[in-house]
Amino acid sequence: MNHPMAESSPEKTSRMPGFYRLTISERIRAVARFAALSPATVEALELGLPLSRANRMVENVGALMALPLGFSPNFRIDAEDHIVPMAIEEPSVVAAASNGAQLLRTGDGICTEASPPVMIGQVQLLKVPNMDAAIQAIQEAETELLGIANAHKPRVIERGGGAREVICRPFPETAAGPMLIVHLHIDVRDAMGANIVNTMVEAISDRLAALSGGHANVRVLSNLADQRTVEATGRVAISKLQRRGLEMPAEEIAERLEAASVFAEVDPYRAATHNKGTMNGIDAVLLATGQDFRAVEAGAHAYAAASGRYTALSTWRREGNELVGKLKIPMPVGVVGGVIRVHPVAAAALEILGVTSASCLARIATAVGLAQNLTALLALATDGIQRGHMALHARNIAASVGASDEVIDDIAQQMVAARMINADYASMLVRMTKK
Ligand code: NAD
Repeated sequence: MNHPMAESSPEKTSRMPGFYRLTISERIRAVARFAALSPATVEALELGLPLSRANRMVENVGALMALPLGFSPNFRIDAEDHIVPMAIEEPSVVAAASNGAQLLRTGDGICTEASPPVMIGQVQLLKVPNMDAAIQAIQEAETELLGIANAHKPRVIERGGGAREVICRPFPETAAGPMLIVHLHIDVRDAMGANIVNTMVEAISDRLAALSGGHANVRVLSNLADQRTVEATGRVAISKLQRRGLEMPAEEIAERLEAASVFAEVDPYRAATHNKGTMNGIDAVLLATGQDFRAVEAGAHAYAAASGRYTALSTWRREGNELVGKLKIPMPVGVVGGVIRVHPVAAAALEILGVTSASCLARIATAVGLAQNLTALLALATDGIQRGHMALHARNIAASVGASDEVIDDIAQQMVAARMINADYASMLVRMTKK
């Protein structure tokens, strides 16, 4: 039976107006309350990565290179509220994600669909005497090949994963002669999966060479993880696009935003920047949670070019009185393995998100990319990207010309008020504070 208090207690919400005005310790307290963090997790967030632990993560360690960890409230994803930790050096990304999340909170919020966590391993076969005969032999031996692969990772099978399929991809004419590429599809469950995949493709390569009569050369995972995707859909009422100080009807904002989306869909020069903006949000989540963001970046851009022409990963259209955004992207992330449990801040970030499966983390990262893209397009389609960005960047400019911590905010505000956000004006203001 439920405790009576449980029924009357308000639903857990990540909607936190004014979060940005809190002090650092107030923010940590708010996040700790929201995610019911233990004192040990709060301490891990405050202390960061110990140098001794960093020394075990990579080679030749001499120092740490820290990044700011911001918290983005307001996210509602698949009917659950989240505060999203984001590690990034670029100003305005965290604020933009929070704004986009606020617009996309209606109903269940951003809705996502994730495929099973299937990664692709590749084996390159060279000097294959008869391509058709090799393909037939490999296809007939699929069950045996899957068995060899699975025998090398029995724990993955116990968890419900394992090798699923063998696919042959012939390249009859290349600069290195004919080659047969064999794909192994593997369900890696809650890992990013690089080691599971690489172990399995190495395990089957001798047998593949024998079946094809050729030689095995490269054996490694593909970062074009197009079997492991997430599609996020977000809806915002067009009337909500209107905001104070913007002399533009909501319908016109929606029309211009849709046109900005189509620009990225048809022009690779614009698509690269459109996708970079989307990845600003995704990478920040990946960095905060200890993921291999290069793997996701490589997959995202290769996927964007999958049709033969590089295009936008996310698109926006008007549907009735709503603006609807969609983002589909490969999302090879894990909640076990890599540095996820080694880096104390990454472990804390996962606890804040409350994720226990790779699929859940993948859904959140994709939803953040969609929210990020909405805010970027909204700025581009209305008063331009520089106004909001430079206001947030003013503090960095003030710091770069030697403003002390006590005067940075004041100088940044003066720069914004005077609409003179540049180093010369900042230097002059700093000199005046010293007089
Ligand atoms: P890993 O090998 O450290 O951990 C995965 C292991 O955890 C699995 O082999 C499995 O034995 C175990 N495990 C425990 N619980 C599990 C569960 N619920 N589901 C699945 N596995 C479970 O990590 P990984 O994910 O194989 O490797 C990720 C690392 O590999 C990243 O740090 C990445 O940088 C690196 N990497 C990437 C590439 C690439 O992208 N091209 C290539 C090589 C290595």
